[in-house]
Amino acid sequence: MKLIQTIPELKALRARWRAAGERVALVPTMGNLHAGHLSLVEQVQTGADRTVVSIFVNPLQFAPGEDFDRYPRTLADDLAKLDPLAPDVVFAPSVDEIYPQGYPIATNVVVNGLAERFCGEFRAGHFVGAATVVTILLNLVQPEQAIFGEKDYQQLLVFRRMARDLHLPVEILSGPTVREANGLAMSSRNRYLSDEERASAAVLRQQLVATGRALRAGHRDFAALEQAARVQLRAAGFAPQYFNILSPELEPATSQHSDFVVLAAAVLGAARLIDNIRLDDPALAA
Ligand code: AMP
Repeated sequence: MKLIQTIPELKALRARWRAAGERVALVPTMGNLHAGHLSLVEQVQTGADRTVVSIFVNPLQFAPGEDFDRYPRTLADDLAKLDPLAPDVVFAPSVDEIYPQGYPIATNVVVNGLAERFCGEFRAGHFVGAATVVTILLNLVQPEQAIFGEKDYQQLLVFRRMARDLHLPVEILSGPTVREANGLAMSSRNRYLSDEERASAAVLRQQLVATGRALRAGHRDFAALEQAARVQLRAAGFAPQYFNILSPELEPATSQHSDFVVLAAAVLGAARLIDNIRLDDPALAA
């Protein structure tokens, strides 16, 4: 496992891999790694000759007033966690390396429509920043595959759309959400929760499961289901931002749809949590 922090060094190694005909997979992250990130690394390693994990806290994807300054930066711990998996490269560039002229930059990748709703409504500029930096990382690493977590379902769809629209020569893969024992989706931002809040945070998953079960049982009163979940979230101390039953493409659900995703974001204490559930989630079979 090699730590690379400069673009020339990355490009030189990439050129050697290309000459050898090796297939490369990229796992983009913002660091502060947990088991969810590690599962993505393990998943792509099975199909690629070379794996690059990028660690970059991208200032462009934080909305004004968000936690860019206090976002946990834990490179030494991250390297220790990755070590047993032995990805070929950990690419951890500085902000200056990625944005040598400073930021914001003149060129942005904007995914209209899809990126403007849900998280896009509450996080000004977030998806533009995320799509732009992922494009930069894809251009630098030039992977055949890149993998993203299904926890960030809207983000995954935004990147798939971007790759399709721009004919990016990369296959976008996804990995399932890894959870704490109480069901809370693992997230670097969970560290903003107190112990008490961490226990209450499980209610978000519980409401997604309850809604998923109701949909599987044939309930189609979407507004009532959403409203009931929001009430439970408020009772548990959350300030819900959205809790929506949608088609898998994130269009408003109708009774014509046979498959759904329930997408949610809610603030608990100092943490903004997001999660979602699909109807094939194993928890719904129980
Ligand atoms: P982040 O470092 O939070 O930007 O996340 C980097 C990648 O890890 C993204 O593709 C996320 O969707 C994914 N990810 C974050 N949390 C989880 C989780 N609990 N399980 C699986 N993947 C995750």
